[in-house]
Amino acid sequence: METEALTPPKVFLTFDDGPNEPYTSQILDILKEFDIRATFFVCGKNVEHYPEVVKRMVREGHVVGNHTYSHSRILTYASFLAPKFLISEIEKTAVIIQRATGITTKLFRPPWGILAPSIQKYLRSQGYKIVYWDIASCDWKKISAKTIEKNVVDNVKPDSIVLFHDGGEDRFHKNHAETVLALRPIIQNAQSRGYAFEKT
Ligand SMILES: [Zn+2]
Repeated sequence: METEALTPPKVFLTFDDGPNEPYTSQILDILKEFDIRATFFVCGKNVEHYPEVVKRMVREGHVVGNHTYSHSRILTYASFLAPKFLISEIEKTAVIIQRATGITTKLFRPPWGILAPSIQKYLRSQGYKIVYWDIASCDWKKISAKTIEKNVVDNVKPDSIVLFHDGGEDRFHKNHAETVLALRPIIQNAQSRGYAFEKT
């Protein structure tokens, strides 16, 4: 009898809105400790502040995706009403990521997961893969590490893409100490259930 090759279930960890220190480096330290890879959807303006942190992501084998330049709330409307404005932010960010890392990213995640069909079509024509998520840690709601952990471990399933944040729009939402605290137990739980961590 032949034994079937066992493929472990996969889970994808993604971190949006950074880089934002000290949290992004703390997340990178934990990922390094477990020797696992993740995907970071960065904003161009934050890459300008912390190019070294984005360099480190690439150096340590993580994937960097585009999450617009400003993450401004008007981008949701621009997606439908002023597509050129949103596209210019995406293209500007692609150049900033390229300059910081030497990498040309073809991954995009729209802020709030909202993107007009015309822009989806345009980005795909440019070779972009648009990445959403199915598990929201809800860490932007300023909840405790325990609740973030529960939101993820109770809902994760094979091929889940988990949404976390390492940045935010203001000082309050930029504090991701709870996300950092939740990460280690989430990884340990998923590993104990046999999950392998993959990048998108
Ligand atoms: Zn975002």
